[in-house]
Amino acid sequence: MNEYDGQRIEDILVLNGFTKEENPLNADVVIFYTCNIREKAVHKLESTVGMIKSPKTKVIAVGGCVAQAENDNIFKRIPRVNLSFGPSTYHRLPEYLNDLLSNKKKKIIDLNNYRLEKFDIVKRRRKITTSAYVAIQEGCDNFCTYCVVPYTRGREYSRPVIDIITEVKYLVSNGAKEIVLGGQNVNSYHGEAPYITIGSNRRTWRIEELIKAIASIDGIKRLRYLTSHPKDFTIDLMKVHNEVPSLVPFVHIPVQSGSDRILKLMNRNHTAKEYLDKLKMFRDICPDIQFSSDFIVGFPSETEEDFNDTLTLVEKAKYTLSFYFKYSMRPNTPAANMPNQVDEKIKDERLSKLINALLKDQVYYNNKLVGKTQEILITKKGKKENQYIGKNIYMQSVIINSDENIIDQFKTVLIESADENCVFGRLLS
Ligand code: SAH
Ligand code: SF4
Repeated sequence: MNEYDGQRIEDILVLNGFTKEENPLNADVVIFYTCNIREKAVHKLESTVGMIKSPKTKVIAVGGCVAQAENDNIFKRIPRVNLSFGPSTYHRLPEYLNDLLSNKKKKIIDLNNYRLEKFDIVKRRRKITTSAYVAIQEGCDNFCTYCVVPYTRGREYSRPVIDIITEVKYLVSNGAKEIVLGGQNVNSYHGEAPYITIGSNRRTWRIEELIKAIASIDGIKRLRYLTSHPKDFTIDLMKVHNEVPSLVPFVHIPVQSGSDRILKLMNRNHTAKEYLDKLKMFRDICPDIQFSSDFIVGFPSETEEDFNDTLTLVEKAKYTLSFYFKYSMRPNTPAANMPNQVDEKIKDERLSKLINALLKDQVYYNNKLVGKTQEILITKKGKKENQYIGKNIYMQSVIINSDENIIDQFKTVLIESADENCVFGRLLS
């Protein structure tokens, strides 16, 4: 979501006469777009702002969730900041920057919620990539006890179906082939329906209906959605994977922990068994489906026994890939005040044990690809010369060599070898 916001910010500024400068020391305006999920990002922001030592700098702006969470405290914490804007206000940046650059104003803060206006203004893009992210909803009402999102991104908002479809049609007719439907909690989507079906008084559509409508737009090769909450995952949504060929058989369903006691303290609203039953049901309905997940280790009061329950869940779930974090205490969230916060050293130990457990399955899924021919969307340059990195339908990273720049293209690749983090392939066409 932040990457999407960053690209929209770039688009809106360039479309309004600003020029992008790669070196922050040569820029009049330096914008930090921030995430507040874990504490590290805030510290990184403080130290990075300190590195902007240039007489050219006229505006230092902080946007996104750190701005939203810090409120006017941001100006005390980092006095050089003169513009602070929340995640639902960035369409107004051209006006705010002009006011600051012309000295009409000295400091500006805007943490309002202008979602409808924002999505309407930022839908124009300068460059359309093969893989295009489309926000279908924003915010979250789940209030997991460790998480800042409901306070920073705000309450759940679903964009009207017609707006999303219009945006997807515009993207596809200008070259996008992979559409990623995004948001903090996409499977609780309930957007205003484009019409009301005879015999029904339902005025909103669920994600199942939205996916089917989008998939019928000509030219979409791959369709994805993220992120999903386990409790909102329905059998209907699982079945859509069988009905819609462009919908990839890969879903990110974060579980966070395998201990029922911790899941309850986290306010996740499901047990480990209910979660595993859902994965099993999904595999029964759609045999080639694969999963990824997020984990938090060291949640307050997590015991060795709780952590072992997470390891047991990992063994049963069999994830293609995963993301893992040490619990980070976020001010004003319920978990921050829970007793028995876990020692950092224990968090480190548990994290490395968890990574080892997750890698076993990751290596298995990576090795399974060897000898297969796959279609890979090349996303970026690799570390070595002529090296490129792409993603397959399961979001596994594939490394290949090419003499030409093939970024942003779909390529047919023969997978020749694998290690724990990625697979290596040869370009066929
Ligand atoms: N809405 C998504 C996740 C959004 S946040 C969901 O619930 O699945 C992305 C991930 O960051 C979460 O899944 C969680 O694993 C992690 N996270 C959120 N708050 C955290 C915290 N306080 N400490 C550590 N990790 C956290
Ligand atoms: Fe945060 Fe995700 Fe929980 Fe919402 S569902 S509160 S975004 S972790």
